[in-house]
Amino acid sequence: MYPELNSIYHSQDQEFLDTSFLKQSTIITIPVIFHVIYNDPSQQVSATLLNQAVDILSKDFRRQNPDAVNTGQYGGYESPNGLWPQNYENIAADCEIQFIYCGVTYDYTPYAQIDISQNPYYLKTTFPYYQTYNPAKFLNVWVCNMGGSLLGLAEFPGSPPQYDGVTITHTSIGYNSPDNRVLTHEVGHWLGLRHIWGDCMCCDDYVGDTAPQQDNNSAMANQPSFPSYPNQYPCATWTACPGVNVYGNLYYPYVNMGDNFMDYSPSSCLNFFSQGQKQRMWYFINNYRPTLLQNNSCTVELIEETQIVNSIKVYPNPTNGIIMLSENANVQLTDLTGKVILNESNVNSLDLNQQKNGVYILMLTNDSGALIQRMKIVKE
Ligand SMILES: [Zn+2]
Repeated sequence: MYPELNSIYHSQDQEFLDTSFLKQSTIITIPVIFHVIYNDPSQQVSATLLNQAVDILSKDFRRQNPDAVNTGQYGGYESPNGLWPQNYENIAADCEIQFIYCGVTYDYTPYAQIDISQNPYYLKTTFPYYQTYNPAKFLNVWVCNMGGSLLGLAEFPGSPPQYDGVTITHTSIGYNSPDNRVLTHEVGHWLGLRHIWGDCMCCDDYVGDTAPQQDNNSAMANQPSFPSYPNQYPCATWTACPGVNVYGNLYYPYVNMGDNFMDYSPSSCLNFFSQGQKQRMWYFINNYRPTLLQNNSCTVELIEETQIVNSIKVYPNPTNGIIMLSENANVQLTDLTGKVILNESNVNSLDLNQQKNGVYILMLTNDSGALIQRMKIVKE
């Protein structure tokens, strides 16, 4: 949707060779805010599970994941003599990025599935259950039933701020989910990484130390034609890229890194980012997400930060009575059960003096009824 960003994501390795931006001694912390959009209780993912998701994310990026010991064990290396594992765990990186859980908002949707396969912005342009906390300081994660075969979606650095973040399906959350590395994979995209196979046959991910692959390893679980050792290398399908050896025979000189987070292998296979991927992520952080270097925290006033993204400033919030708008709009105030409290047209203030203390939802619309923004208001 944004052709001007194409050249950024196809940047060659040389662009990342300048290591001066690599702040090796600094571990940055990225606060994570979740937005759960649910239709039934099974989709109403608990804060406990969301905390687990952040824990997995942090451990993966710090290379503290328990299965880090598996790196290099499940890939394969093809030569004229057959397939064997290549010892490539020495390229695995502690990315020096960690994450903290800041909170969750829950919103009900009347739709059982939110199919964003045709339009990635469907969720964010169609539903009023959508708000983005300042993406310069937070990783926004939307959790919903994405339907179909989609597990996740991410915005690359440089995307429009109101859409910036990651969307994952509700079943991919928590220690016990079979898809619990989807968030790690999507956050890799969010920080500028491409798929390890480059999204076409033996294409490039513009990272020097990851091996070219023919394709992703998503089909590894049922590969009847896999030529050898399918059980010994359960995370590698026939996807290494070919070369020609000194005898003129076709062979496969590259390792198959089916255990890299940017492959499509099952979550149980995924266990590492490479040094080159770390360098690419830090390049994008320094150039496109520099405010992440400030080590933001959950103590930042979330509601206030939200207004930086939105077009109309709403203040003060919390309020003890009067709310002001920086522009006129149609306003609707509801309580958390959805009951309409106030409904006014073309106003630039709102009087909550007669309302009880508590949390309310404020929706601003324009004259044609289109949603401008939706936010939580606190009366205290
Ligand atoms: Zn992906």
